[in-house]
Amino acid sequence: MEFLRPATWDEALAAMADHPGALPISGGTDVMVELNFDLRRTSAILDLNRITELGRWSSDGASVRLGAAVPYARIIDELSGPLPGLALASRTVGSPQIRNRGSVGGNLGAASPAGDAHPALLAAGRGVRVEAHSVRGVRLIPIDEFYVGVKRHCLAPDELIRAVRIPVADGPQQFSKVGTRNAMVIAVCAFGLALHPKDRTVGTGIGSAAPTPRRASDAEAYLAGELAWESGDPPAPRVVRRFGELVAAAADPIDDVRGTAAYRRHALAVLARRTLTWCWNDYRPGRAA
Ligand SMILES: Cc1cc2nc3c(=O)[nH]c(=O)nc-3n(C[C@H](O)[C@H](O)[C@H](O)COP(=O)(O)OP(=O)(O)OC[C@H]3O[C@@H](n4cnc5c(N)ncnc54)[C@H](O)[C@@H]3O)c2cc1C
Repeated sequence: MEFLRPATWDEALAAMADHPGALPISGGTDVMVELNFDLRRTSAILDLNRITELGRWSSDGASVRLGAAVPYARIIDELSGPLPGLALASRTVGSPQIRNRGSVGGNLGAASPAGDAHPALLAAGRGVRVEAHSVRGVRLIPIDEFYVGVKRHCLAPDELIRAVRIPVADGPQQFSKVGTRNAMVIAVCAFGLALHPKDRTVGTGIGSAAPTPRRASDAEAYLAGELAWESGDPPAPRVVRRFGELVAAAADPIDDVRGTAAYRRHALAVLARRTLTWCWNDYRPGRAA
């Protein structure tokens, strides 16, 4: 097996062009498990850890450009203000060790339906873009188009994720996850919710309850039309209930060792109602998040 250690981004792209299908490694919290358990074989590993720019983020005030390798621990410490949903999701990932190494770029690269970053990225808005680079150029992939199947994304074999562009929150965001224990747990199901008062829309993300992470589009449209954006009056119980039902209906879960499909649907409706209540309590008309 070849072990490639590019020192620059251009060298990394050239290496991917020479070895399409090489396995990138960032934090290694997924890759090392797969290699150690012989779940994956590869002819070449591409170590991205010398490319320091992948571990940086920047913001122009309207959006955050999150380097692919920024670890969860720094998202929690440094980005809870502009990206509250992703920061909340990051808090639920693994243990401190995993949060110090694991990254959103790696979560996207793994594209597991249970990855915790995905519901938060979907909820953050349709403007979220994955920056995919190759020697052929740059693609800005809308987050809704990124996930194409169970643990499958739309990256070409020679493409690498450089960063994710995420709009700065313009309203409250929440993330909630059900697991079989309180920490170090793969989600039985998870849900991200974001209110976007500027354009009076709602963002959702469902995790671990369909072949891919997905949004609940009907639930988003329904809630956006029912919320009292102007007055801030709390939504009626029937609205909260209906929102939960529509979120559950958008899921396509399976029975597996972590939970049944029926339980996942039930739990998603609960998470949807709960996160809506939390978000609305934080919402003040006319005031940014
Ligand atoms: C004990 C333990 C607990 C965990 N708990 C959770 C949890 O609670 N929630 C959760 O979501 N995940 C969890 N994980 C999984 C893992 O930590 C996350 O998926 C993490 O985000 C992976 O990031 P990484 O940087 O370590 O990725 P890596 O392991 O380095 O890579 C993961 C995948 O992404 C690809 N990749 C990495 N960087 C790039 C790039 N720049 N461009 C293209 N492809 C790339 C790799 O080739 C690989 O396929 C856990 C893992 C362990 C071992």
